[in-house]
Amino acid sequence: MQQAQTIPHDALVVGVDVGGTKIAAGVVDTQGNVHGRIKITTDTSTPERTLSSIAQGVRSAVQATGVTMEQVHAVGLGIPGMVDPAQGICQISVNLGWQNVEVRSWLERELQLPCAIENDVSAAALGESIYGVSKGLDNMVYLSLGTGIATRAIINGKLYRGAHGMAGEIGHASFNPTGPLCRCGGRGCLEALAAGPALALRAQDELRSGKSSLLRDLIGKQPLENLRSEDVFEAARKGDALATKILREAGQYLAYGIYLLSMSLDPQIVIIGGGLAVEGSPLIEAIHEGVTRWLENSPIFREMSGLNLLRLSSLQHDAGITGAAALITSAH
Ligand SMILES: [Zn+2]
Repeated sequence: MQQAQTIPHDALVVGVDVGGTKIAAGVVDTQGNVHGRIKITTDTSTPERTLSSIAQGVRSAVQATGVTMEQVHAVGLGIPGMVDPAQGICQISVNLGWQNVEVRSWLERELQLPCAIENDVSAAALGESIYGVSKGLDNMVYLSLGTGIATRAIINGKLYRGAHGMAGEIGHASFNPTGPLCRCGGRGCLEALAAGPALALRAQDELRSGKSSLLRDLIGKQPLENLRSEDVFEAARKGDALATKILREAGQYLAYGIYLLSMSLDPQIVIIGGGLAVEGSPLIEAIHEGVTRWLENSPIFREMSGLNLLRLSSLQHDAGITGAAALITSAH
């Protein structure tokens, strides 16, 4: 099935944000409004079952919106991994356990609708650039900060994919060659230093080594492995020195990443999205502090960017859904 060349002015498109644990989907209208948002658990037991959960997510979103499948024009999907949009294939997804899965042809057969696929962070960047805080800006960097870390850039109004669609995988660039092991096999990756699970692991290690902290009260009698990044945030909010130190260090690594991306790509803004992009969070404050330090240290960075460089995502979780839908509706 070929993607339709012309899109009706009242076209409805289903946008799907496929995650390793949850699939979020919604019906997106031409204004970028999301209707019938649903979230279901991803069945990753086999690629076929994962594809079936995606198809189920699409049908549930359509049903929740109160429209029929016949009223839907197409389906756009953001996939966590390396994706070939032209072939409709996901070459590799660690989160889904996929290797060379023919996503588009399977779903088009199942749903009888044209489908388009892209990397999930690329889709979210597209969503932000078309409907979010960078609407109307031609150059921006989107930083997804959650259980993983990745960035994607819009350059001169277009999503910059690079040779493999992976341009912006700074989460797996090493910021400390002697740092902790990353799930990718590398050492000291930005993701292993500053993503949610890394913050929790770091706090667990510090507590194991006998450091005193409010975190001990928060965790109570539970095993240390139950400690989450949310606990580190809560302790930092209450003024705990250890939690504050952990977040400040992570913020400095992230700020250095933002500084390098800004110097290389000269974006108008850098948008922070993903699960940890929460207004007033101590991690976001630490990133601001780190970027402020780079602005003070680097006259050229200061000339190029100001304190307004950083923005929080305005779309939050809808960035992935609207961006996936925009794969169909925009000339990205
Ligand atoms: Zn890595």
